[in-house]
Amino acid sequence: MGLLDRYEEVVGHQEVRRLRHLAERVAGKRIVHVNSTRTGGGVAEILGWMVPLFNELGLETRWEVIAGPPDFYRVTKSFHNAIQGLPVNLKRGDFELHNEVNRQNAERLNLEADAVFVHDPQPGYLPHFTPKGRVKRWVWRCHIDAARPNRAVWKYLEKAVPMYDATIFSMAAFARPLPRPMFIIPPSIDPLSDKNCPIPEAERLETLGRHGIDADRPLLLQVSRFDRFKDPLGVIDAFRLLKPYYPELQLVLAGGSADDDPEGAEVLKEVMERAGSEKDLKVLLLPPDAHRTINALQRSATIILQKSLREGFGLTVTEALWKGKPVIGGATGGIALQIHDYQTGFLVYSPAGAAYRVRYLLRYADKRQRMGKIGHEFVKEHFLLVRHLRDYLKVLLYLDHPGMETLVV
Ligand code: UDP
Repeated sequence: MGLLDRYEEVVGHQEVRRLRHLAERVAGKRIVHVNSTRTGGGVAEILGWMVPLFNELGLETRWEVIAGPPDFYRVTKSFHNAIQGLPVNLKRGDFELHNEVNRQNAERLNLEADAVFVHDPQPGYLPHFTPKGRVKRWVWRCHIDAARPNRAVWKYLEKAVPMYDATIFSMAAFARPLPRPMFIIPPSIDPLSDKNCPIPEAERLETLGRHGIDADRPLLLQVSRFDRFKDPLGVIDAFRLLKPYYPELQLVLAGGSADDDPEGAEVLKEVMERAGSEKDLKVLLLPPDAHRTINALQRSATIILQKSLREGFGLTVTEALWKGKPVIGGATGGIALQIHDYQTGFLVYSPAGAAYRVRYLLRYADKRQRMGKIGHEFVKEHFLLVRHLRDYLKVLLYLDHPGMETLVV
C-alpha cells in the first residue's frame, strides 16, 4: 500500500484518483524545493510530507536547504519582519550579504531540475546566480503576507521576480501586483502525520502527566515558535485577566525554535519573565520533532489560542480545527480565513478580547463542541494535503502550457 492510498480513508477514493490522474500528465519531471530550514515553522512542516508524496506521484523530487553564516539569518529574519510591516534597520551590506549567500548556494546546491520551487525570500536570488539551462522553470512561493511591506526590502526582493516563471501566494490578500503569473494556493496539513493523526488515550494522558498538566481541569493552549508576531505575552495577559474568575484554568505555551529564526531565545526570555511564577501557566520548550506531544496537547486543550499580531497562513490554527477545537485567534493573515466568528471560533484584537471570548466558550460546552465539529469539516473540505498537491500539479501543468490561463486560479 502506497502512502497516498492511506488518504483515501480520509478524503475518499475519488479525490485521490483525481490527484493521480493529474499527476500522470506531469510524471517524470524533476522537481526541487528550496527553503532555509529543515525543521521548525510551517514551511518545513509542509515540505516534510510534500516531498515524499510528490515522489510517489511519479515526480522525481528533492528538497534542498540553503546555508549561510548566522548574520545571514539575522538579515533574513529582518526581511521577514519588514515584509510583514515592521520597521527594520538594514544597511547596504546586509543586502549584499543576502546576495552573496544566494550566489554561494546557487553553486553549492544541486538545482538541476525541470522546476524549482523557491520558498520565501531567503533563497529568492538563486535564479540570478544559477547558470542558464540548469533549471527549466522557476517558481517563487511566498508564504508570508506581503501586502504592506517595508519599501526598501520589497524593492530589493521584487527585482528577483522577473527571473521567475510564476509566483504563488497563500491568499489573494497577501499578494502584490507582480509582473509574473500568480497562483493562489492556501497551505494544508497532513491528517495522518504524527502531528495530526488520532492518538491513543493512554498516550495523551501520559503526555499531560509528563508535563505536569492536570487532565481534569480546563486547558488553554497556544503552540508557536517564540516570535513577537505570535504575541505570547498577549496570551499571558489574557490568562491573567481570566484566572480570578476561573481559578481552575491552566495555560500552556508550547514552542520550539526554528534554525532560521535567531530571535527565538530572546523572545523566550521575555515570555519566561512575563510568566513569572504564575500558577498553572507552563512554558514548554519542545524539540523540533515533538509532533506527538503537540498532537496530544492540542487534543487535550479546551480552547486553542493563536493570538498572532501578524501571521502567514497559521498552520497551528488548521491543526487545532482539525482536532475539533474552537480557536481564538488574532484577526490577521490566514487566521481570518480559517476562523469565522461563532462558527469555528473567534477573531480577536486584544488580550481583553481574547479573555472575553474564552469566558464565553468556557461557559458553553455545547457551543465548543459544535464549533469543533464545524472546524473539522471546514479543514477537511479546504485544507488537507490532497487539495494542496493538486494545486501544485496544476502549476506544473501551467508551466508546460503557459497559454492555458484558465488554470491560473
Ligand atoms: N510547530 C512545531 N513545534 C513548535 C512550534 C510550532 O512543530 O514548537 C509547528 C506547528 O505545529 C505548525 C508549524 O510549526 O505545524 C507552524 O506553522 P504556522 O504556519 O502556524 O507558523 P510559522 O511558524 O510558519 O510562522
